[in-house]
Amino acid sequence: MSGPTHAECEALRRTPGATAVLFLTDRCPVGCDHCSVGSLPRSPRITDWNLFTGIVDELGSREGLQLVALTGGEPFAERRGLQLATEALTANGKTTAVFTSGHWAGPRIPLWIRRVLQATGTVYLSTDSFHAASVKPPTVEAAARAVLESDCTLVVQVAGSREEADRWADRIPEAEVHRVPILPYGRGRLLRQGMAERPVADLGACHLLNSPTIRYDGTVTACCNEEVIIGGGPDRLRRQATRPEELGGILDGLAADPLHRILRRTGPAALASLLTQDRATLCGACWTLQDARSRQRHISVLFDLLESEAT
Ligand code: SF4
Ligand code: SF4
Repeated sequence: MSGPTHAECEALRRTPGATAVLFLTDRCPVGCDHCSVGSLPRSPRITDWNLFTGIVDELGSREGLQLVALTGGEPFAERRGLQLATEALTANGKTTAVFTSGHWAGPRIPLWIRRVLQATGTVYLSTDSFHAASVKPPTVEAAARAVLESDCTLVVQVAGSREEADRWADRIPEAEVHRVPILPYGRGRLLRQGMAERPVADLGACHLLNSPTIRYDGTVTACCNEEVIIGGGPDRLRRQATRPEELGGILDGLAADPLHRILRRTGPAALASLLTQDRATLCGACWTLQDARSRQRHISVLFDLLESEAT
């Protein structure tokens, strides 16, 4: 089915409550050197199917939620979970966007994959020189054909040069092609030392706080920062749902958190007096503020700010 374009997905990601990320598995057979979540062929995967099925049902019935991004690891390496999620979410009127390397493609596309694609709105196909060590261009092109034959919207994302992105635009003219940075997380940390720091006053709002991430094991993170998803960063950005019924309350609580509200609307610049550094990355400043908030040191300043926001 035809899903939102990349621009439409981005617009939804800036709408509070409209999107969520369902992190289906840590596992991936591809093994890219730049993988921001450090996925490997034997990484952990779903074991508690009751919890996972319940989480999918909770997302399906969540009011205001329009788009669920299915990521990992490689979603197609988690056949049962991917089938279950795409079918149940679509049946509940949600749109899905699946992120994949397309490693599963070949001369013949298995029927179960065609069925998953038929229940998917948008497919993000990731390809670049790192993916190409395992997933060669003809495989990516075969995956793109299968996606387009299923009438999904196709977005090709390239962690590479403008020239590389242009080559993919020529190869697959029906796709939207856009470039993405290599993130300094997971194995990507070895390739990039970090993101450029900017004056705190120039750090904008964090719209990723509109995309909470729910892992298959019930871990919920306030945003979709990969380092936080794989267990890094402040604990304050993470909660644990041990039962599916807890998910709605956790998502509501993370969205209503006073610090998250400030970061989502204004960004760290609103709290510059709590930061010791003059320059920082957005996530770096956020982590410092999360730690300060969890130590309760500056709670009065935060609430003063919230009150002044409301008046
Ligand atoms: S970047 Fe994607 S395809 Fe590559 S190892 Fe990570 S999850 Fe797999
Ligand atoms: S700024 Fe904070 S909330 Fe936003 S993506 Fe980075 S870690 Fe997550």
